[in-house]
Parts: sequence; C-alpha cells; structure tokens
Amino acid sequence: MATEHWAKWQRAVIKVGSALIAPDGKQVSGKYVLPIAKFISDSIAKGKEIILVSSGSVAAGRGIINSHEQGATVAEKQAMAAVGQARMMANWQRFFDFDCAQLLITHGDLRDRRRYVNIKNTVRELLANKVLPIINENDTVATQELRVGDNDNLAAMVALVCEADALFICSDIDGLYDADPRTNKDAKLLPVIDKITADVYKLAGDTNNKIATGGMKTKLQAAERTTTNGIHTFIVNGKKDAVFTSLNLGEHSGTWFKAVEQKDNAKKQWLKHTLKPSGKILVDAGAAKALNHTGASLLAKGIIRIEGDFTRGDAVDIVLDGNPIGRGLCQYTHNELALILGKESCEFENILGFKHKNEIIHRDDFVLFK
Ligand code: GLU
Repeated sequence: MATEHWAKWQRAVIKVGSALIAPDGKQVSGKYVLPIAKFISDSIAKGKEIILVSSGSVAAGRGIINSHEQGATVAEKQAMAAVGQARMMANWQRFFDFDCAQLLITHGDLRDRRRYVNIKNTVRELLANKVLPIINENDTVATQELRVGDNDNLAAMVALVCEADALFICSDIDGLYDADPRTNKDAKLLPVIDKITADVYKLAGDTNNKIATGGMKTKLQAAERTTTNGIHTFIVNGKKDAVFTSLNLGEHSGTWFKAVEQKDNAKKQWLKHTLKPSGKILVDAGAAKALNHTGASLLAKGIIRIEGDFTRGDAVDIVLDGNPIGRGLCQYTHNELALILGKESCEFENILGFKHKNEIIHRDDFVLFK
C-alpha cells in the first residue's frame, strides 16, 4: 500500500490508555508499552515530533494503596494517582535514550488563557530540546469542576494546544465498528470516517472495561475536536505490534477519522474546544444575524433571556431558538446581565452604577459553531 497523505504529519499526539499501561489494573507493565515506545523512537529518528498523553497513574498505584472493598474513595484514588504517576513515568523512561518530561494539567489550566499559552510554550521548548513531553491529568489535585475527566478529550485538547497534525488514540479495541463487536460477530470495523455525525455517535457504546475511564464516546468527542481543526485522528489497537509497523510505513490501521480542512485560529480553537460553557444567552434573530453575518459583537439589546450561573470572563453559549450558534467570553456576571438585558449600552451606568464594556461579548472573544 502506498504512503497515505496523513502520513506526512510532523507533530503528533499519542494517547495511551490505562489498559495498555497497567493491563492487570494494579501495576505498570512494559508489555504493550515497548512497541509504542519503539514507534515513538522511530518517528523521532525520522525528524518528527511526539507528545505523549499517558493514562494509567490510578491503575498503576492501585496495588500500592489500600482501598475500600466497595470501591476506592476519591482520596484513595488521588493517592493511587500520586504514587502511580511516578511508576508510569519510570515505565516509559526505561525504553528511551532521551529524556522524558512530566506535565500534569487540569481543565482549570487549559481554560485559563495565560496558562494555556504557557503550556504551549513549555511543550515547544521541550520539543526543541529533544525531550519527550508526557502529559496526564493532575489527578491528585483535580476536583470534579476542574477536571477534563478522561484522557481522550485531554489528548484532543493537548493536540490543539500543541498544534499537532495527527492524534493517535491507542486503546485495546481495533477501532470503530458498525455494531458492537462484543455482542455481534458480524460487526465490521470501519476503516475510514469522513465526518463525525450524529449517526457515527450512535455507533458508540459505553465502556465496560474496568480499568479505562473513557469509552468509544469520549474517543469520538476527542476526534470531533481534532478533525474539525485539521488534525487527522486514529483509533488503533495498542495491543497489536503490527499496528505500529503499519503506521511507521504510512499505512493506516484501525479507524482513521479524516481531518476536515478548516483551521480556526488558536484563540478561537481554545474558545470552542477547551472551554466549558457556564451558562446560556438566548438572543433574538437580529442579534444572531449580526453575529453570523457581520462579525459583530453581542450587545445587550439583542438578548432575550439568560440561563446559568456565570461570572465575568466565563464562557457562555449563545442560543437562537434552542440551537447553540456560538460561544464567547461574557463581560458581565449573570446577575448584572439580568438587569441590563434588552437595554441600550448607554443605560448600563444608570442601572448598574458602572459599565465594564459596551459589548456583552466582544467579537474577538466570540466563535461561531458553524
Ligand atoms: N488520568 C487518569 C489516569 O492516569 C486516566 C484517565 C483516562 O484514562 O481517561 O489514571
């Protein structure tokens, strides 16, 4: 098979799931890590750049921290992550002649624009120094509100921050099937997906692997974040050596989610794919038209109603007739906005006693979904 065009990637994120790092769910193992490490070394030797997103800290620490029989508590899991993270890093490092660097991040870091830019610069510096960045969620400190929650989506966010051109999600399944292969022996692997639609999401069942966090759904969410930003994405079976031999030869294996050729600029990517909305602003048709067609900012007078509990600088979704049309950073808290919605900006000072900005969402802080 000839080299496929995606194989020209220069910078890739490789996500390795817990089932490959700690196959017995209790401690790290080199079994599946070795062929992946070889793929990484071979790629780097060809002049390509790799960023690794590795799961497995909780699984790697499970055999060391005692936990309740009914299931580990949050504190127990965080302790497992603390001890397992060091083991997981050491398990990677032993296969490389170059250095590995540890980056532990949370969604709280990614949604702060300054920290987001810092992560980007640090990774760039590590790559320039031929060091392999290994990223995981900072599970020991992350609380529910601050977590990405699964490493598939984390890897997609990392691919966006690092402006990668490919994402390889290594799991213990061959790829996306047209039916559940565990219950349907006629299920067929789908080698190429051109676009992730609602029908594609219907093919994703829930995970039933006790070690892994994500399932097919989080992988599709990840692939949607990346492919809509020009990043080719693959789900491959990391338990099969042959997968990496093929990838090395530029032949795809597993399921290839083709990149949709359209890249937003870095700030718009961050707004759309990294931030979680804290509320909704329902607008009238006039405001929606101005946002859609003239690249205008959102003004208070086009707002009909607000939902949610947001503060100044939070991301909110803009909704027209029940459909989210875009996302932006709001200049006012929900309490302030409740008082000024529908009003002209010259009235803000009379009503609130102050005015941050004429615009509720500035056009520079806004991104359309389509
Ligand atoms: N951050 C978790 C860990 O290292 C894994 C999350 C995931 O696999 O999605 O244990």
